[in-house]
Amino acid sequence: MLDFWNGRILEWLDLYGSTAVVLWCFWSFVLGACFGSFTTACVWRIPRGISIVWPPSSCPKCGHRLGASENIPILGWLLLRGRCKGCGLPISPRYVLIELATALLFTVTAYSAVLCRLPLSVIPAWCLIVLCIGSACTDCELRIIPDKFTCSGMILALLCAFLFPSTKMPSNMTPLFALTYTFAQIAAVGLFGYSAWYAGKLLFHREALGRGDVKFLMAIAGFTSVFGALVAILTGSLLALLWLLCDAVKRGRLRRKFAYGPFLAAGALLWLLFRGIGMRLLLK
Ligand SMILES: [Zn+2]
Repeated sequence: MLDFWNGRILEWLDLYGSTAVVLWCFWSFVLGACFGSFTTACVWRIPRGISIVWPPSSCPKCGHRLGASENIPILGWLLLRGRCKGCGLPISPRYVLIELATALLFTVTAYSAVLCRLPLSVIPAWCLIVLCIGSACTDCELRIIPDKFTCSGMILALLCAFLFPSTKMPSNMTPLFALTYTFAQIAAVGLFGYSAWYAGKLLFHREALGRGDVKFLMAIAGFTSVFGALVAILTGSLLALLWLLCDAVKRGRLRRKFAYGPFLAAGALLWLLFRGIGMRLLLK
């Protein structure tokens, strides 16, 4: 099924040339902004146990219900000049920044998928982007990564492997084999992660790696492979170390606890972006 739709999209892209590629990227940007908006809602609602469909979005300060135009991702915030229509208080630019970041990441991966001649490979990539941004924001704000994010991530990774086996490496797997292979990769990273968590508890009497981080890594492995998860750990740790050093210089002492999720997310996203470039070089 994937080959059929990939073929149809490629036919359309080849027929209309650069205009089609621009349209493809434009709609990826729009979709990314909408998913960014959905992610900000999930980040606010899921840890607080509020349903993601009801009640409709409202200002957290005065309860003003957002109208249709105020709900448009990115543009809504710009039209309101960053202030709530009800109380006039400033709306955090965090929302628009998350929407913009998601939109840009969606566009870059969509463009890279076209260059790889595998346009539908954007679907697992987009799932990973939403998972990474959502988990990073919740971890930054509340120091937790909810199971609803990580477990949904693992289920989506398995579903993507089954539906789009040719987006996995090696690309000639049958759907059932891709599903089993992805499950094994998630389990392997889980085993490694929980061992590290247990070793940290035993040796240092504290969690070296949070259990939320372990489940987050398992979901990353589901989308990227064990190798991708390892790259995320190494890159994430390097970024965390740099940040800790800068923070220590600024504060005059070293922080003992910090959220590791955003660094893992950055590592996974860097891998996602550079894997695309790597595949392009391989295909040339
Ligand atoms: Zn308000």
